[in-house]
Amino acid sequence: MNVCAVIPAAGSGTRAGFSRNKVLQPLGGVPVLVRTVSAFAQNKAVARIAVCVNEQDRAQIEELLAPFAGVLLVAGGETRTQSVANALEALAALPCPPDYVLVHDAARPFVSQKIIGDCIRTVREHGSAVCALPCTDTLVRAQSGMICGTLERRDAWLLQTPQGFGFADLLSAYRRIAPEDSFTDDSGVYAKYVAPPFLFTGERTNVKLTYPEDFAMESMRTGIGIDTHAFGAGDHIVLGGVRIPHSRGLIAHSDGDVLCHAVMDALLSAAGLADIGNRFPDSDPQYKGADSLLLLSRVRAFVEEAGCSVGNVSAAIVAQSPKLAPHIAQMKENIARALGIAADDVGISAGTSEGLGFLGRGEGITVTASALLRSRR
Ligand code: MG
Repeated sequence: MNVCAVIPAAGSGTRAGFSRNKVLQPLGGVPVLVRTVSAFAQNKAVARIAVCVNEQDRAQIEELLAPFAGVLLVAGGETRTQSVANALEALAALPCPPDYVLVHDAARPFVSQKIIGDCIRTVREHGSAVCALPCTDTLVRAQSGMICGTLERRDAWLLQTPQGFGFADLLSAYRRIAPEDSFTDDSGVYAKYVAPPFLFTGERTNVKLTYPEDFAMESMRTGIGIDTHAFGAGDHIVLGGVRIPHSRGLIAHSDGDVLCHAVMDALLSAAGLADIGNRFPDSDPQYKGADSLLLLSRVRAFVEEAGCSVGNVSAAIVAQSPKLAPHIAQMKENIARALGIAADDVGISAGTSEGLGFLGRGEGITVTASALLRSRR
C-alpha cells in the first residue's frame, strides 16, 4: 500500500492579517507548516508528502522542510483546487504513483496521529475518508441579518482535513473539473465526479488557523524556586505576609519572608527572568526591611510584562518550629491578593524534617515553591 499526502501551502494569509504566508508564521517557535508536515512524516505509512508552494516562498520552504525525507515541492496554482491538481499530477508522474492520497490543510498543524491513522484505515476500507465533526451549535439560514429558517443539526457535519481518497479516483475527478466549477475542498470534487465521500470523526483540536487570534496560542510555563533563611535574634517571623510570634526571627535584609521569596523565584523562573537576587539585591538599601508581599506584587508585574499571567503557585515549607497550620489560610489569602489570583490557586503545605539536618535542628526555614504561568508569547 502506497500512501502519499498533499499539503497545499501556496496561500497568502490575508485573512490571518499577516503580510506573508500564514503557514510560515511561527507557533511556539516552530513554523505552522513544519508542524503540519512533521505530523505526516511521523506516520510510517506515508511515503511522500507533496507540498504546494508559491514561487516567492519556495526557497524558504525548501530550507524549512529539508530535514524531512520524501517531501516533494510542487508549484502552487491560483486557487487551492489548482494547487491540489498540480500536486496530483506530480504524484501521477512518479515511477510508482500512490494507491491512496490524503489531502490536508497546511494551516491545521494540530492534526493528531490518531486522525491520520483513522483516515488511512477508513480510505482503505471505503475508498474515501473525510475528517468531520458533528455539529453541536444550532444552524440557521439567514437573510438580511434575520433568521429565516433552521437547519436540521442532526444531518449537519463540519468538514476538516485530512481527506483521503483512492488516488486514481481523485486524479480522474480533478481532470474532469469544469472551468465553472468552484470547490472549497476535495470532498466536493470527489462528490461531484466520483461518489458521496465517506466520513470519519475528527477532533475539535484539529483547528484551521485562520484569524490572528488563532495564532496567539496559549502555552503553559512552569518554574521552581527555593529559599532558606537562618534563625537569629528576634521575636517573630514573617511568612506569606503573616507576622507569627516566635522566640527567634529570621536573618534577612528584607522582612525575611522566605515563603514569598521562594514563590517569587518560582514565578521569575517560569517566565525565564532573572531571579530575586538580581531584581532586589541585598546590597540595595531600598530593600532594607522590605515588605516581601509588595515585592511579590512587583514580581507579578514583571511576569505580566513578559507576556505571562499567573495560573497557580504551590509551596512546601519545612520548619521544625513554630507551628504554622493556624496561619496557612491567611498566608494563602495574602499571596493570592498580591498575585491577583484566587486563594484556591495558592497551595501551601508545612512540615518538619523529622529532626534531621539543619532544618531539624531548628537552625532555619526552607521553602520550595512552584509556579504555573500562562504565556501568550
Ligand atoms: Mg530570601
